Amino acid sequence: MADLSLVGRCGLYCGACGIYRAYRDGGDYLKEVAESFDCSPQLVRCEGCQELTPECWGHNCKIVNCLRGKGFSFCHECSDLKSCPKHSKLHEGYEELGVDIKGNLERIKAGDAEGWVMEQESKWRCKSCGKPISCHMEECHQCGAKLDIIPK
Ligand SMILES: [Zn+2]
Repeated sequence: MADLSLVGRCGLYCGACGIYRAYRDGGDYLKEVAESFDCSPQLVRCEGCQELTPECWGHNCKIVNCLRGKGFSFCHECSDLKSCPKHSKLHEGYEELGVDIKGNLERIKAGDAEGWVMEQESKWRCKSCGKPISCHMEECHQCGAKLDIIPK
């Protein structure tokens, strides 16, 4: 079953987000992420972009706030998307990590969110242990394997 709560409004797959993985997987990785943001581990939590609660990391996301203000669910609904500095900046940052949020939005827009999520679920996995990983990791937080090949 595809977990549609992980369909990011900006085109990001939430399952490969560092915050989401830290919250779901816990352990040392959660401690590491909390330390990197200099916050308490209790604050590192997110249910995914489609299931945001006020306690979620993504609740005050700039993109989510912008969409809320415009009454849209996804960035592809916005006629300003092509010239949006917020989305372009996000896209460039994630592109370096092997994530194409513009391409992802096209898939979501085309009505294939479910197929896309299932692809993402198998793509963002450690080749050694098979567990889910984040696009921000250089090493698998579960088995320690080097993640030197960015999945495409
Ligand atoms: Zn692994």
